[in-house]
Amino acid sequence: MSLDFWERQTARAMELAGDADGTKELLVFYVRLLRAQTEVYQFCLSSRWQLSGELSADLPVLRPAFATILRAAEVAGPERLVEQARTLKNATPDEIDQLLLSYWSEPSDVEFFAKAFLQPYGQYLAPEITDFVPAAGSGWRCPFCGGKPQLSILQYKKTGGESGNRDLMCAKCVTFWPFRRAVCANCSEEEPAKLSRYQTPAFSHVRVEACDTCKHYLKNIDWTRLPRAEAMVDEVAAAPLDLWAIEHGYTKIELNLVGL
Ligand SMILES: [Zn+2]
Ligand SMILES: [Zn+2]
Repeated sequence: MSLDFWERQTARAMELAGDADGTKELLVFYVRLLRAQTEVYQFCLSSRWQLSGELSADLPVLRPAFATILRAAEVAGPERLVEQARTLKNATPDEIDQLLLSYWSEPSDVEFFAKAFLQPYGQYLAPEITDFVPAAGSGWRCPFCGGKPQLSILQYKKTGGESGNRDLMCAKCVTFWPFRRAVCANCSEEEPAKLSRYQTPAFSHVRVEACDTCKHYLKNIDWTRLPRAEAMVDEVAAAPLDLWAIEHGYTKIELNLVGL
C-alpha cells in the first residue's frame, strides 16, 4: 500500500461526486475526508523515523495530525459529526489519546473520528498480505490487526486459486487479504441456499453479499467488471444497495465512514 492508494481513492470520489445525484452529499463529504486521510498517511510517511508501530508510544507524534480529520468533518460532515468535531476540538490531549487507544484495542464502526484517523496509520503499519490462506471456518478477521471486513473485492490475480480471487478489506487497517469466494465473511456459512446476492443495473460492478444464517452482509466490488473502480469509494457510492439490505433485515458487518 502506498500514498498512491489514498490519492486514487480521492480522485475517484471526486469523479463520482461530479455525476452523482442521490448520493452527491455523501460523496462530497467523502472527498473531503479522503483528502484528510491522505494527509494523515503523508504525515505517517514523513514521521516514519519517529513511529514505532506501538500506538501508545506513537501518539505524541501523531496527535497534531488529528486536527486534519476534525476539520474535514466540521467543514463537510453531517450535523452530528460537526457537533462532535467541535467538542473534540476542545478535548484535552489525554482525552484524545483515550479515544484513539480504546478504538485501537476495541474497534467500533460508530467511532467515526478514531476510525477515520487510524485507517491511514494502520495501513502505513500493515505489511502487504499476498500468501495468506485461511483455514476452513476461519479467516474472516484481518490477519494483521484482527479488524472486521469493510468490503470484499473480486479481481484478476495470477495466484488466486485458493480464494477464487476474492479479497476482504480490513475496516481498521485497510489491508486486503484473500478469502474464499462463496463463503459468508461474518460466520463462514458456505451453504449456497443460505447466501443471497443482490445488485441493480445502476451499479453493475457492486453487489450485496448477504447471509441468511447470521443475517449479516457486506458489499462486493467487482474489479473485473469495472477496473477503474476504487474499493472504498465505490462501496460508499453504492449506498442504495445498503438500503435494500437493511429493508430486507440484514445488518452490515461493518458500517463505512459515511455511516452506511
Ligand atoms: Zn487490519
Ligand atoms: Zn453469515
